[in-house]
Amino acid sequence: MKPLRKCTRCGKEAHTIDELSLFEKQKTGLHGHRNRCLECNNILAKEHYHANPDYYKAQRLARKDWIHEYNHRYYQEHISYFRDYEADPIRVAKKRMLDKRYNQQRKAERHRQVFKSRSRSPYRSSW
Ligand SMILES: [Zn+2]
Repeated sequence: MKPLRKCTRCGKEAHTIDELSLFEKQKTGLHGHRNRCLECNNILAKEHYHANPDYYKAQRLARKDWIHEYNHRYYQEHISYFRDYEADPIRVAKKRMLDKRYNQQRKAERHRQVFKSRSRSPYRSSW
């Protein structure tokens, strides 16, 4: 039987829809997937990353610039809002309190997750 998709790099074949999920998605591709499995795609992406450090550095910088510019523009467009906001000490204090609470919750959540992953570790279950 002809496979639905076959990886051009390692030759892995997908015969079922389940197996297709191991291939990289591509809307225009046959059955909505590329003929490259995720494993090979990761390897190739890493190789590309190390072979083209300047390209990725430029992309990172461009993104940073874009975010900076976006924030700046947003601030300029909503400057009256921010001015009002900063002029109101109660609102500023409220926001600070909420930010603090949010950060504490995040910290607790991270701590819980670390604990959970540790208790599930195979090293633990063996003793
Ligand atoms: Zn492959």
